[in-house]
Amino acid sequence: MKYTDGKNIMVYAQSADGAPVGAALETVSKAAELAKANGEEVIAVVFGKDTDTKTVITAGASKVLVAGEEGLPAEEKAQILVKLAEKYQPKAVYMAGTPEGKMIAPAVSAVFESGCVTDVTGITADGVYTSLSYNGNVLNDMKMGENLPHVATVRSGSFAKKLDESRTGEVIAEDASADTVRTKVVETVKEIAETVNLEEAQIIVSGGRGMGSKENFALVEELAEVMGGVVGATRPAIEEGWVSRAHQVGQSGKIVAPKLYIACGISGATQHVSGMIGSGYIVAINKDEDASIFDVADAGIVGDVTKILPVMIEEMKKRKAE
Ligand SMILES: Cc1cc2nc3c(=O)[nH]c(=O)nc-3n(C[C@H](O)[C@H](O)[C@H](O)COP(=O)(O)OP(=O)(O)OC[C@H]3O[C@@H](n4cnc5c(N)ncnc54)[C@H](O)[C@@H]3O)c2cc1C
Repeated sequence: MKYTDGKNIMVYAQSADGAPVGAALETVSKAAELAKANGEEVIAVVFGKDTDTKTVITAGASKVLVAGEEGLPAEEKAQILVKLAEKYQPKAVYMAGTPEGKMIAPAVSAVFESGCVTDVTGITADGVYTSLSYNGNVLNDMKMGENLPHVATVRSGSFAKKLDESRTGEVIAEDASADTVRTKVVETVKEIAETVNLEEAQIIVSGGRGMGSKENFALVEELAEVMGGVVGATRPAIEEGWVSRAHQVGQSGKIVAPKLYIACGISGATQHVSGMIGSGYIVAINKDEDASIFDVADAGIVGDVTKILPVMIEEMKKRKAE
């Protein structure tokens, strides 16, 4: 199944409990900018008839195709996206670089024998895709071949979400369904930690192995709370059982881009840094002045986190009380 002549950008707008996720809206907004530059439009796809299509339109979609169910496995969603791409023949299909997006994207491009670039941080109107490799240490500019659609997953926080209430669009119900279903969701277990919305957070206070114990890790949680932020963590802190896996930031965790990231007792391993390097302002607290986290920090404090965090918490509390 191949085509080389396409128009418009299709975006899979992933949702959770009927609300499009932030990274999907960022992708729609970027696609809208690119489509406008080429005199084209954005055709978004959402799963589930109760999914909020209005927000997808305000983010920049001219058409929203509603298909299937939100809870379908990635395999089925990929097959439905393939059918919709066949029908609408878009030039490109984009989606958020979530774990689900990273499963769907290659499955779609494989059917069309077209290119697929993941972890994209930049896209030009003439189809140059900037993507991160080697844990964010190398930036590649890539062009895809002539087969369409060009498929890309977009790294969270790479583009701004631009919501414009005045935008209007068309909502179209599609009855496409998957032909081959090899996996079936038998049960969905919702973690208590599901409320952890690291990707959307404006402030993240993260703790690493240097916190030393679960009791000390509570200081990270307290600072996050007084600052109105969200708790992040390195993999060792999670493996120690100080906090649940939903809080992990990094290569095998979440990719975050808050305005402020406070790294407490974190060494700065590339697997962690690749997940938070997109933060607006990074503050690092480490007792080792040579720790590599200071190489990426905008402000650094050399000292013992267990002594520094209580001072910061008290100071924040005082300021809030003023
Ligand atoms: C395939 C793969 C994927 C991975 N994915 C991830 C990932 O997604 N996220 C992730 O985080 N890691 C990931 N890792 C692990 C990663 O390589 C590092 O081991 C990890 O990030 C280090 O965590 P840390 O900084 O908490 O611990 P450490 O490297 O042990 O650093 C602890 C730091 O705390 C400082 N410290 C100690 N005590 C104090 C104190 N009292 N006050 C102040 N500072 C103190 C130390 O100086 C040190 O710099 C991955 C590894 C692999 C191989």
